[in-house]
Amino acid sequence: MGFKYLASCFLLLLISQSVLAYEFSLMTEITLHPFFFLVSVALIILALGTMARTLNLLRSRGHKQLRQLKRERQKTQRHLAIIDKHVLMVNTDQDGKVTKASSAFCGHTGYTIKQLKSLTLECLIPESNRSSILNKRYQEASQKGFVSVEVQEKNAFGGLYWVKLQIEAQYDRNGSIIGFTEIREDISTQKKLEELWMTDQLTGLYNRARLDELFETELRRARRYGSQFSILLLDIDHFKQINDQYGHLTGDDVLFSVADLLKKNIRDVDVLGRWGGEEFMLILPNTNQSEALTLAEKLRQLIQTHSFTPVKNVTASFGVSSYIAGIDAEELFKKADEALYRAKAKGRNRSELGMQSLPSSNERHSDQSA
Ligand code: GH3
Ligand code: MG
Ligand code: MG
Repeated sequence: MGFKYLASCFLLLLISQSVLAYEFSLMTEITLHPFFFLVSVALIILALGTMARTLNLLRSRGHKQLRQLKRERQKTQRHLAIIDKHVLMVNTDQDGKVTKASSAFCGHTGYTIKQLKSLTLECLIPESNRSSILNKRYQEASQKGFVSVEVQEKNAFGGLYWVKLQIEAQYDRNGSIIGFTEIREDISTQKKLEELWMTDQLTGLYNRARLDELFETELRRARRYGSQFSILLLDIDHFKQINDQYGHLTGDDVLFSVADLLKKNIRDVDVLGRWGGEEFMLILPNTNQSEALTLAEKLRQLIQTHSFTPVKNVTASFGVSSYIAGIDAEELFKKADEALYRAKAKGRNRSELGMQSLPSSNERHSDQSA
């Protein structure tokens, strides 16, 4: 390229020199100094050549940048199309009114973009106080800039599903909030698996694995905040006889009914689970040993008086223990288990205390009746 350019310059130089020299000699009497003439023509040609080359270069660079920009634009459009197809994304203004929604979001929720634009995202909240729930979320997103929660939602056909919802506040140049971008990830399968993992299939209560976790959590809370809590262990008396006499299916019904009876007669914050076989466990937050004993007695009497047709005389024994500073999970459980064993040994259908500082239920009863 360089060589070609120089060669053509040189050729042009020779031609122009001879032409101009000839014309000058014809027109004027002045004889142009050949060297000066040669140099000026060469400079003109060089300048013209450089200009042409620069223009060419600029043109090809411009073309290249344009092609690159086009490619980048196509790439961005492809990415946006993938996001639109697969990401559950929705934009709202600061009042929560939908301004934009991905096709994936519309497909998942069952709403068309037209319907969504005439609604707020309250339409996805299954609870009755949906407006205050939505306001709370946006308030938090406004304060922190970002919110991440796991919530259950309702689609356009009333179907329920779980999502991990992330809300990001959007700002204008002055830092004022102009709206929110929400991204959802469907976690229904994960939630179902979690539920299966932590639930006892016969009674629907927490299973042993989940009880273990919740027990540890409560213990950590008590250690951290110095709070009080108690545990109850309950074992149905002579359950083997029930199975033997009425069959396993009736035995299962009794287990289900006992679970139901217990569930309906405890507080929301109390944790109830099936420890295994015909044994149940209760974790009672903010409850001391004597309060736990009162509850054990209430439940014991409820079971004793409940009609479990066709089974007659279903009773249960209880072991109670309470958290004291320094005790570990194993020790606390052992105290309740020993108390339950004592209740069995003393004739069943009784409640016994793990920590012996308080009188047992039966001693209290006999004290009261004396
Ligand atoms: P105790 O008063 O000493 O507790 O006597 P028990 O008969 O209740 O205790 P035992 O440990 O001898 O028997 C427990 C029985 O519970 C034996 C077992 O087959 C039965 N069982 C455990 N799980 C289930 C279940 O899911 N369904 C039914 N129907 N029976 C069960
Ligand atoms: Mg047992
Ligand atoms: Mg038993």
